[in-house]
Amino acid sequence: MAKYNFFEQVNKNFDKAAAYTKFDKGILSQIKMCNTVYHVSFPLRRDDGSVEVIEGWRVEHSHHKMPTKGGIRYSHKVDEDETMALAALMSYKCALVDVPFGGAKGGVKISTRSYSESELERITRRYTFELVKKGFIGPGVDVPAPDYGTGAREMGWILDTYRQMKDDLNAEACVTGKPISQGGIRGRTEATGRGVYFGIREALNVKKDMDALGLEVGVEDKTFCVQGLGNVGYHASKYMTEAGAKLIGVAEIEGAIYDPAGIDLEALMAYRKETGSIIGFGTSKELSDNSMIFEMDCDIMIPAALESQITAENANKVKAKIIAEAANGPVTADAHEMMKERGALIIPDTYMNAGGVVVSYFEWLKDIQHVRYGRMNKKFDEGSLLKIVRELESISGKAYNTADLERLTYGAGEADLVDSGLEETMITAYNQITEIREQHNLNDLRTAAFINAIQKIGIMYEQMGIFP
Ligand code: GLU
Repeated sequence: MAKYNFFEQVNKNFDKAAAYTKFDKGILSQIKMCNTVYHVSFPLRRDDGSVEVIEGWRVEHSHHKMPTKGGIRYSHKVDEDETMALAALMSYKCALVDVPFGGAKGGVKISTRSYSESELERITRRYTFELVKKGFIGPGVDVPAPDYGTGAREMGWILDTYRQMKDDLNAEACVTGKPISQGGIRGRTEATGRGVYFGIREALNVKKDMDALGLEVGVEDKTFCVQGLGNVGYHASKYMTEAGAKLIGVAEIEGAIYDPAGIDLEALMAYRKETGSIIGFGTSKELSDNSMIFEMDCDIMIPAALESQITAENANKVKAKIIAEAANGPVTADAHEMMKERGALIIPDTYMNAGGVVVSYFEWLKDIQHVRYGRMNKKFDEGSLLKIVRELESISGKAYNTADLERLTYGAGEADLVDSGLEETMITAYNQITEIREQHNLNDLRTAAFINAIQKIGIMYEQMGIFP
């Protein structure tokens, strides 16, 4: 497959949208550029005693808001171009969903499967050490999070390393996606997939768009395929199926399966855990190649793996009516045009996968406030609700049973508040995108999302940060 320059792809989308804004050319160039690119290499002592050089990056794309924010990716495909593109996408994503951060991204060029847990810990701690040393991490500076190949475990190591080096009251806010015991937040693991579900639900509720696609409004009974069963793909599929959609195709590293009768997600996960593969599951048929997943009949295709998966080479073969970009950059700029031409609805990555950083923002707020959401008001709310219920009982003469009382007087805890904040954010952002789409008479959500982000960032740059 041709190698795509990912940052160039992002900038193509940027330029298309920038034409609809009134910013000075210099301001637009400033928004596009990566402000700082840090490339580091360091030695790793492997378990067998040998020494290997590890390469890593941290890119801060935009300092229009601080701190900057974005995940750290562990993959053998990581390079500077990819890290820059992903950092830029973070700036646009944060602006779009009104998360007050600039964009950043980190990458370490390793294949996680080739290292033991203790080697991964040494790599993570040394990488963090390099970030601390050069001022590329801190609660008010740059706040990493999980991405492809990393998770709560790595974030815990990052926090611990930072804390050992810095005497910082807000240390817990230096990284998000941490284990709950270390200042993490309930709902962060599920957040990106949960946001994907909310986003798809919003898109499927726009009657005009569904009419144009020849689909009924609503998630129920829609068929979908997913590429990647990692954290994002799994959770997106889980919430989609819970809402009544039908999973009919899955692609993973080992291959792809398709079953129009439906695939039981939990059973598939268990099967894969046991056999090490999705192939041979139930009544599904194996596809000749994992990229064949894009050619299968379904209403919604959810690419939830890596960038540049749908390109000019295969865009014409994509049958799904809706492409929900759970991954960052899964569709190249040319492929986007080709699919748009045939009337497909593409829900862009900057919106679609923003749930992760939205909940990261809630986690960061929790950590700088040093208090768990719901701690101050849960009992108080429950007491107030109970008073109302007691009044209702005395007016109506009806007595509620214990189960009713529990349901009616339930006060929101952290998980409820995080979920509600995420849902609200996804609804508001979708409305903003569709409003801009109407305003400019566009038939393209990506351009509308970019216009929205450019406007918000451009205003900041116009007002500040340029020395006279
Ligand atoms: N890596 C995720 C993303 O691409 C989350 C970033 C964050 O939470 O800071 O959006």
